[in-house]
Amino acid sequence: MHPFSYTRAATTRQALDAGRDGGRYIAGGTTLVDLMRETVERPRTLVDISALPLREIMVTRRGGLRIGALVRMSEAAAHRGVRALYPVISEALELSASAQLRNMATIGGNIMQRTRCTYFRDVTAAACNKRAPGSGCAARDGFNRTHAILGTSDACVATHPSDVAVAFAALEATVVVLGPDGERSVPFADFLLRPGSTPNREQALRRGELITGVEIPAHPRPLRSGYLKVRDRQSYEFALTSAAVALHIRGGVIREAKVAAGGVGTVPWKLPAVERALIGRRPSDALWTKAAERAADGARPLHHNRFKVELLKRTVERQLRVVGGGR
Ligand SMILES: Cc1cc2nc3c(=O)[nH]c(=O)nc-3n(C[C@H](O)[C@H](O)[C@H](O)COP(=O)(O)OP(=O)(O)OC[C@H]3O[C@@H](n4cnc5c(N)ncnc54)[C@H](O)[C@@H]3O)c2cc1C
Ligand code: SF4
Repeated sequence: MHPFSYTRAATTRQALDAGRDGGRYIAGGTTLVDLMRETVERPRTLVDISALPLREIMVTRRGGLRIGALVRMSEAAAHRGVRALYPVISEALELSASAQLRNMATIGGNIMQRTRCTYFRDVTAAACNKRAPGSGCAARDGFNRTHAILGTSDACVATHPSDVAVAFAALEATVVVLGPDGERSVPFADFLLRPGSTPNREQALRRGELITGVEIPAHPRPLRSGYLKVRDRQSYEFALTSAAVALHIRGGVIREAKVAAGGVGTVPWKLPAVERALIGRRPSDALWTKAAERAADGARPLHHNRFKVELLKRTVERQLRVVGGGR
């Protein structure tokens, strides 16, 4: 590990000042410390933000939810309002990491976590454009079974590993950030960046900006929702594919559909073609199958992950049936 200095922010102002001067925020520390130990990350100053008052979960005036950036994953998963309004969020969190990690890790840190691409985390592997811009991408011609099939570029094919971010993408959440110029809201779809030619740029955060919370808009009620995660082992494993589904069904017709996939995209992957195929139709087994056929539109599989195309369609189909009911 490289030497670094450590400071603890007592107020948001102190955190922002330290962030503006190049300090790196640390919340639960469950992933940043690993990356520092592996020398993938070498921040010179750590700014501990864990004492800031960002640990509230509130129902908003419009009937949505605001989850503070420092709410622990386990707190958010167990929260009555989250469970009642958006089970898809609770389920995505409960299927993430381990109980110990969820007790420590925060919502802000979760959406900021970096890829699990093994070449990115291995500083002895020369080629990784994300870690060392311009060096190439060892995964393209290497072992790429767990990598992305959607949103990739010549420069990078790594997946975003967060589960709850898939639920946030499906529900069209907003990330609230605070910086030297005040507060702004960034739609989730614009917050995590596709790699393009600059895979080292991963979020739409400006220098020194702090995430203060995530807001989920109100959706028409009743809203049924849930999360399915497919992985190599049943616990403590990242997704090969996953699906977050939320459906508003009234009078026997699907009025609103929110669907996103994980484990397949360089960012959590919203599925508008699947949503369009559902809206205005009556739930049925045939509909789930037909809509899920659109889940892998635009996929560009790599040598070892062709299986993800079919697995993604089946994951989406199964979760549509679980949430929407079969007939
Ligand atoms: C073994 C293991 C298995 C895991 N499995 C899963 C899994 O299955 N699914 C899943 O979703 N996740 C998984 N994770 C990731 C885990 O959820 C993250 O480590 C955790 O959510 C990060 O939160 P943290 O508060 O500890 O972040 P930290 O480690 O403190 O920070 C992470 C990053 O976020 C930045 N940051 C933190 N808070 C803020 C803020 N408020 N504003 C701006 N920047 C901020 C930090 O600067 C840093 O870059 C796993 C992790 C491990 C170690
Ligand atoms: S996929 Fe991305 S993170 Fe992995 S080696 Fe290639 S450039 Fe690096």
